[in-house]
Amino acid sequence: MRRLQLNRLRQMVDYCIEKIPFYTEQLSRAGILSGRDIKDLKDIERIPFTTKDDLKNNYPNGFLAVPRDKIARIHASSGTTGKPTLGYYTKRDMKTWAEASARVLCLNSIEAEDVLQISVGYGLFTGALGFHQGAELIGCTIVPASTGNTQKQLVMLHDVGVTALMATPSYATYLADLISQTKIPGDEYKITKVLLGAERCTNGMRNTIEKKLGVPTFDNYGLTECFGPGVAGECDAHCGMHISEDLFYPEIINPTSGKTLPEGEEGELVFTSLYREAMPLLRYRTRDITSLNYETCACGRTSVRMKAPYARTDDMIVFKGVNVFPSQIECAIDGIDGLSPHYHLKLERDGYQDTATLFVELVDPLELYAENKIHAINEQLQKRLSEIIIVKMKTKLVNPGTLQRFTGKAKRVEDLRYSQESTGQ
Ligand code: ZN
Repeated sequence: MRRLQLNRLRQMVDYCIEKIPFYTEQLSRAGILSGRDIKDLKDIERIPFTTKDDLKNNYPNGFLAVPRDKIARIHASSGTTGKPTLGYYTKRDMKTWAEASARVLCLNSIEAEDVLQISVGYGLFTGALGFHQGAELIGCTIVPASTGNTQKQLVMLHDVGVTALMATPSYATYLADLISQTKIPGDEYKITKVLLGAERCTNGMRNTIEKKLGVPTFDNYGLTECFGPGVAGECDAHCGMHISEDLFYPEIINPTSGKTLPEGEEGELVFTSLYREAMPLLRYRTRDITSLNYETCACGRTSVRMKAPYARTDDMIVFKGVNVFPSQIECAIDGIDGLSPHYHLKLERDGYQDTATLFVELVDPLELYAENKIHAINEQLQKRLSEIIIVKMKTKLVNPGTLQRFTGKAKRVEDLRYSQESTGQ
């Protein structure tokens, strides 16, 4: 694997220097004039990073390495501000991507006999079509349900005997809620596994889905800048996601200093495309915070594994001068009996003061009211929050079903501080 990676990296450096003016300049400034200047894999650290800002500044086709008529597909992910992030694919890329997705689905224990319902958005988003083409390679039955029309989703899940559901963790939690509430007995469903992706997944969400449906969940990781799904997926040992490291070379760096971190340490994930034709990226900073594990997995595979990213460098909220990650809030809620994983954090400005209110849904308020437990749960939540996040925030426990549900990526943090300021409040 290391030899293959080194060969591909050298070829990729030559390819980028020849095809992409941005890299011709970047690499020459770093003293790399050809692939031969990369003596071993460690030399990758000499290559400058590519950032989301670089993509933005060279939008829409500054990273395109082939002429337009060689492009077979264009995908896009919604940027949080302004322009989308584009993904370009040649015919060869489409083939590589399908194989990478099929590999990840195999990791997720998908077999030709499975009936796979893909309940993520079909369209510009890479998730659905990416998994779809991998599933076609495996030869399983595909139900392209996309998102929305939840009643029909449930009908399909039940009536055609779906064995595997693919959804975002939030939507899967919602569907699992509904399935466990219907009058149809749970064992009439044939679901044996739930595949998750497109969104960070908390243990609380996984536990909820697994408990309600009585089946295992498999996490997946991908990003438009690296094809989409197919980058990494979880096997049935459930201890990290195996990375397609022959296609994407991973590194972990300190997000502040940019220094490569030793094996096993936590930091920002960086990927270098090793085999991509249309839009190769060298040392692309994903902004995801995670760590890598190079030990052989219990499943027998030797490919490097990544932990589920627990935060994004750009999800960081600065509240009263303290860095707060949504994952810390999820961690505080996790494991408190009586609380569901559904929460909403509202940040506001009260005069010159920032305030934060955390709304969390209770699982069964009637039972808790009867037992006078709600006050104790709130205190427990306050304690957990003050242990994990140093600043104080208000907490409000609300009835099940009160907070918004998401069919796509969840937006659980609402920051009104700046909008309030600009309207003069
Ligand atoms: Zn494994």
